[in-house]
Formats: sequence, structure tokens, C-alpha cells
Amino acid sequence: MADVWVAPGRINLIGEHTDYNDGFVLPIALPHAVRVAAARRDDGVLRVRSRQQPGVTEVPVRDLAPGAVTGWAAYVAGVVWVLREAGHDVGGFDLVVDGDVPLGAGLSSSAALESATALAVTELSGLDVDRFALARLAQRAENDFVGMPCGIMDQSASLLSREGHALLLDTRTLDTAHIPFDLAPAGLTLLVVDTRAPHRLVDGEYAARRAACHKAAEVLGVPALRDLTDVPTDLPDELLRRVRHVVTENRRVLETAELLRAGDLPAIGPLLTASHESLRDDYEVTVPELDVAVEALLAAGALGARMTGGGFGGCVIALVAAAEVERCAAAVREAFARNGFIAPGCFTATAAAGARRER
Ligand code: ADP
Ligand code: MG
Repeated sequence: MADVWVAPGRINLIGEHTDYNDGFVLPIALPHAVRVAAARRDDGVLRVRSRQQPGVTEVPVRDLAPGAVTGWAAYVAGVVWVLREAGHDVGGFDLVVDGDVPLGAGLSSSAALESATALAVTELSGLDVDRFALARLAQRAENDFVGMPCGIMDQSASLLSREGHALLLDTRTLDTAHIPFDLAPAGLTLLVVDTRAPHRLVDGEYAARRAACHKAAEVLGVPALRDLTDVPTDLPDELLRRVRHVVTENRRVLETAELLRAGDLPAIGPLLTASHESLRDDYEVTVPELDVAVEALLAAGALGARMTGGGFGGCVIALVAAAEVERCAAAVREAFARNGFIAPGCFTATAAAGARRER
């Protein structure tokens, strides 16, 4: 029987669009995960299958280069490629993927797939690569091989998280702190709403936000927006709103971490809601499904609610009293039906463990 590695998807509690500004993020790993059953081959061929996707990809590892593998298998082949690029002696493998992280819902199935692959391939090759380096390599695989310019948050969350804790990550230094995140003793639950909204405009708008932040940092003479402690006043309106989101969001992340450390769980609710308002009004990355979900959740008594992930679709999270979960979920379903949206998926989440060998 092949060995199996497992890596979780993630939910970002707070800290959105901060990771490419050298800022702070605060994700938790989800119980949902991607598993990779792996065995070495001695013919130098990489053979990849998934129980969630059709087709088999077979490619000699020495032929791996950006563009050589497309589709879902690129996330796997990219990890093998990037390890070889980094000078590691990595040969052929049989890999079978099986996961229950919803694909493309903003729960980071892609980083889960990369992380499980990275652990499987390095351990089977007898390589000693630490988790921080693995996160960087997996990010490079997604950036340079898949062609998706993501930040470092998703891979870090999958590889570095601890059960019962959120991961406070400084994306500049990769300093991490594991912050207790256990809502149950406080009678609270984290409700996740997958809006199932079709992702619209994602790539172009994401690139436009990144470019705006880069430009603002240049104009303001700082290495990154992370270096601003106050919101500047002398910028054109749109740029000012983009900067204001990043500056205030970084603050909210650190405040949330402080409240969690102090055990004041209900108090993070208003920060989650403020984050959503900032993403809606200043950063302009929400869509009606996200705003309607947040509104319905708050009206139903949630202590706080926000979109999570990059926006333009994806998921909403809400901090709700455990006894109110069903009522809040029903309120969102009703609001979606009223607005003619596809029925959303609702589930509750706890902070799960990071990537590991399963057997
Ligand atoms: P997210 O990471 O939010 O789920 P992405 O678009 O970044 O969304 O990544 C989703 C892609 O990752 C899928 O389209 C697919 O190519 C790949 N993927 C994730 N999980 C699996 C899986 N279990 N089997 C095959 N491919 C997967
Ligand atoms: Mg992804």
C-alpha cells in the first residue's frame, strides 16, 4: 500500500489582500483536506491521477518546464519541477490525489494539493526541507508553473498550522505565532457559507489591485504598504481607498490576534464586519452574493461576518452563537432564494492540524 500525505485547505479569519503588501494574515487550517498517496518510480516518470478530476498525466520529470503540463496536474508537476529547479534530486513518482476541499471555492484546494505533494515528494526522496522553505517552493510552483500570482498565505496555512490554533503570519519575515482559536468553550461557532457564486473578473481585478498597491507604495516612498502606520491623505481618491483598506486591515489582524490571545472571542466579531465593509467599500472586491450573505448573517444575529479569500465570489465566514447556527444558515439560504442566487453551501469549521504524513 502506498504512503499517504494529507494537507488541509484553509479559511482566512482576517487579513485580506495584505499578503502581497508584506502585511499580516490570520488563517486557520480546515478539517477539509487533500490526500496524496505516493510511491517512487525508478523510470523517472511522474504519473498523476485524481479521484476528483478525469485523466492521467504522465511526463518524464526531466521534461518538466512551465507550460509542459496544464490543467489540474500542473499544481502537482509544478512542485516536482520547483524542487528540481532548487537543485534537489527528485525522480519519478506515482501520485494519486483524493480530496474533499471544494475546488475553486476560495478554501485553497490548490495550496492543499501543492502542500501534500511537496511533503510526499520530499519525504520519499529523503530530502530535509523545512516547512517554511516548502511553503515558498509551493508558492513558486503556483506562481511560475501554474501561472497564478498568489501570495504566501495559502501554502503557509496548509503547511504550518496547528490544531486548535490560528496562524498569525507576518508575510514579510515569515515570522509565525500560533494563536489559540477554540470557539466551543465560549459557546460560539465559525459558520462558513460557500456562495458558489461564479468567480468573475478575478485575474484582471486581482492584478489591478496588486498594481495599485505597488504604485501607491512607490508614490509614498515606502518598500510596501505594510510600512504605513497611518492612512495618507494626499492621494487620488481611488488609490487612497485601496491604501486605507490595507493599512486598516493590517491593524485589524493584529487587534484580532490580541483579542484571541486574551480569550475575548466575541470581541472579534466587529473586526470581522469592519473588514468586510472595508473590502466592499474601499477595496471593491465583493460581489452581491458576498454582501447579501454578510447582511443576512448579521441581521440573523451573527456577532460578525465577512467575505474571506480574494473576493469576486468564494466564501463568507461568520462568528455565531452555537445555538444560532441553523437559524443563521437558514437566513442566508432564504436571502439567496429571494435574490435569485444559486443555493449556498453552509458548514461549520474548527481549526484543524497542518499538513502531515497520514500513514
Ligand atoms: P482554490 O484554491 O480556492 O480551491 P484555485 O483555483 O486556486 O481555487 O485552485 C483550484 C484548482 O486546484 C482546481 O481547479 C484543480 O486544478 C486543483 N485541485 C484542487 N484540488 C484538487 C483535487 N482534489 N484533484 C485535482 N485537482 C485539484
Ligand atoms: Mg488556490
